[in-house]
Amino acid sequence: MDRDRKLDTDFIPLSLVGSESPGWDGEWRDGALADGFSRPIKNLRISVTDRCNFRCTYCMPEEGLTWLRRDQILSYEEIERLARIFTDVGVEEIRLTGGEPTVRADLPVLVEKLSRLPLNSLSLTTNGFRLKELCKDLVDAGLERINVSLDTPVAEKFVHITRRDALPQVLAGLEECEKYPQLRPIKVNAVAVRGFSEEDVLAFAELARNRPYVVRWIEFMPLDADGAWDRDDVLTGAEIKAIIETRYPLVPIADDRIQVAQRYAFADGAGEVGFINPVSEPFCATCDRIRLTADGHLRTCLFSTWETDLKTPLRSGASDEEIKQLIRSAVWRKEMKHHINDPGFQPASRSMSQIGG
Ligand code: SAM
Ligand code: SF4
Repeated sequence: MDRDRKLDTDFIPLSLVGSESPGWDGEWRDGALADGFSRPIKNLRISVTDRCNFRCTYCMPEEGLTWLRRDQILSYEEIERLARIFTDVGVEEIRLTGGEPTVRADLPVLVEKLSRLPLNSLSLTTNGFRLKELCKDLVDAGLERINVSLDTPVAEKFVHITRRDALPQVLAGLEECEKYPQLRPIKVNAVAVRGFSEEDVLAFAELARNRPYVVRWIEFMPLDADGAWDRDDVLTGAEIKAIIETRYPLVPIADDRIQVAQRYAFADGAGEVGFINPVSEPFCATCDRIRLTADGHLRTCLFSTWETDLKTPLRSGASDEEIKQLIRSAVWRKEMKHHINDPGFQPASRSMSQIGG
């Protein structure tokens, strides 16, 4: 189905179609955070750093990004306060990300602080490099779910895509995760790039069949700092699914929850894979996500060209209520959809590692 059309015709009030900024009506829904298109917003991604120990080609440049200074980055206490305010207004799920979240010192300390909040889910997205040493402390601190990014199981290709020789460390990190049943199923996320990813698809499918991993492919989005994204480089989820089905038939998994991934089980029951298809099958109509950057700016879409600064008010003595109002009015203006597939697409104001993917 063309989900963009579904968005325009089924989901958005017709009076708002074509408008990116629905008019503010001055009314908040009781106890729930919602945007101007009536989408409930429950999912917050918090970036804890813009730095990373990898340089994935689809995300960061080899060199030349300017890092945020220490004083520009929210402290763990500041993140904790903002996270509590977000849960007060309706956020139910928090995922920590970056840059690479595990390169920030004492990450388990933050996890422990956030684990005291009334959340349905506290999770982490990581490249896995430091997981062998950190996984136990993160789980002890209250981490409930983990996504490990791994784009290829082939060592030379891993060096090519991450610009780091670190596949053994990532695999060791994944094995470490297996020791903690509370983290299962461990999600393994691979960015799919045409001409690079096809030959790894069946190996990943076998990983999903033989290990407690749900492997999910993410379509390559125009969020790379090098600005080299080209539509022709997007290997779609449908194409990957077709490759898997040359050997292993798949059956869809019904799931009523808001899911960005299309979930499939192997027909013989041996495991699960998923496809996250933001380019070929946008899921904006059900998007429930917002993001907090490491420097304390609220972003309502990966592709936002504007942000709401929460750090300055936070550091200038704003009350919780004042910050809640800032959050609610920013969320109200959440973009109807991304425009990757539209003429005149305007790139996001930051690249992926600076946003917090
Ligand atoms: N460093 C951590 C990691 O790699 O998992 C967390 C941050 S990273 C920005 C979050 C996710 O975004 C990763 O799964 C990564 O593969 C994905 N990502 C980065 N750039 C992307 C792009 N241009 N298109 C699609 N996914 C991308
Ligand atoms: Fe670092 Fe993650 Fe971006 Fe790779 S995808 S460069 S690991 S932030």
